[in-house]
Amino acid sequence: MTATRVLVLNSGSSSVKYQLLDMRDSSRLAMGLVERIGEESSRLKHTPLTDGGASRERTGPIPDHDAALKAVAAELAADGLGLDSPELAAIGHRVVHGGQSFTHPTVVDDTVLAEIERLIPVAPLHNPANLTGIRTARALRPDLPQVAVFDTAFHTTMPESAARYAIDVETADAHRIRRYGFHGTSHAYVSRATAELLGRDPAEVNVIVLHLGNGASASAVEGGRCVDTSMGLTPLEGLVMGTRSGDVDPAVIFHLMRVGGMSTDEIDTLLNKKSGLIGLCGDNDMREIRRRVDEGDERAKLAFDIYIHRLKKYIGAYCAVLGRVDAVTFTAGVGENAAPVREAAVAGLEGLGLAVDDELNAVRSGEPRLISPAGARVAVAVVPTDEELEIATQTYALVAI
Ligand code: ADP
Repeated sequence: MTATRVLVLNSGSSSVKYQLLDMRDSSRLAMGLVERIGEESSRLKHTPLTDGGASRERTGPIPDHDAALKAVAAELAADGLGLDSPELAAIGHRVVHGGQSFTHPTVVDDTVLAEIERLIPVAPLHNPANLTGIRTARALRPDLPQVAVFDTAFHTTMPESAARYAIDVETADAHRIRRYGFHGTSHAYVSRATAELLGRDPAEVNVIVLHLGNGASASAVEGGRCVDTSMGLTPLEGLVMGTRSGDVDPAVIFHLMRVGGMSTDEIDTLLNKKSGLIGLCGDNDMREIRRRVDEGDERAKLAFDIYIHRLKKYIGAYCAVLGRVDAVTFTAGVGENAAPVREAAVAGLEGLGLAVDDELNAVRSGEPRLISPAGARVAVAVVPTDEELEIATQTYALVAI
């Protein structure tokens, strides 16, 4: 029997998200989420996607990732999709930071694990949890290929002029300080899907991808290769996000330390968790912000305007970086759903060949689609991202014989 299934695991510090896919037709067989691992009130939600099965939920303590993965395995087994099935080809793991070491998805061995561990100082929040997920899955099925798919890999094609900060080279290199970029799996998938939507070869198409979720990043993709992206050493740089500030003058940090008396950790929390939309207006959900804007709420309007202003700056910058732009594509929770954000982001950019058709922009759909007027010089598109499918595809490509 040919093994055609791939389990995708996205392990966070207290959660594991998973999907089981059949790569013969990229269909989803099951998906789910374990939350609050390590607490009394852990919760597992499992949804079988074959035969219209209903979701199952259970709550109660799940002490660690090992117990979480065993609970997931039991749920899958109850649907006849157990991890011991000969049909399972591999487990694909999302790994946030691959540094400069990992430019492609990689089959995990001890050396790879050691290198991901070496990168913990540049990704202290994410890589430890990703590592735990891989180690746990490996212990459960030692014979099965485990593949690490890195958020940063797609961005390793950036030229040095885009990847380096203009700071002392020796200091930067000593601390591995450079622009790595994140959301790479999404940018890779969406830029390729945009070329498909245009009926063109990705190698011929230049795309600006705007991944606007709670975290948000933009990328400039030239002929399928990333040449610039808005996130940097960490996911803090770039666009205004749900709770992150995006770009600020670095001197804001010195000022907060010297004049505001704040500690490094307090500033870290301020900029990563209490800034962006939530810091500006108290809400980070774009639906709620739009509702407030429509009711005339001034703070919500200012937050929206700052969000759009930053977005426009990056669109303009990436038009300049690419020289010729074939498409600007919106994706992720905000990009796929918030028509007012798409409208405002390209308003006034006719000079760059950008416009949206109001009727097309208002259509709600889960399908990739164009929202620019017929015959527009630059296509404006909405392409739902699918990071799990991309991880599964990259994993399967590496292990399928
Ligand atoms: P992440 O993966 O970064 O957590 P998502 O891509 O799932 O984020 O996006 C989540 C965000 O998408 C929400 O915080 C909300 O702002 C936005 N969002 C989701 N649905 C809608 C909608 N219908 N209209 C406007 N914004 C939406």
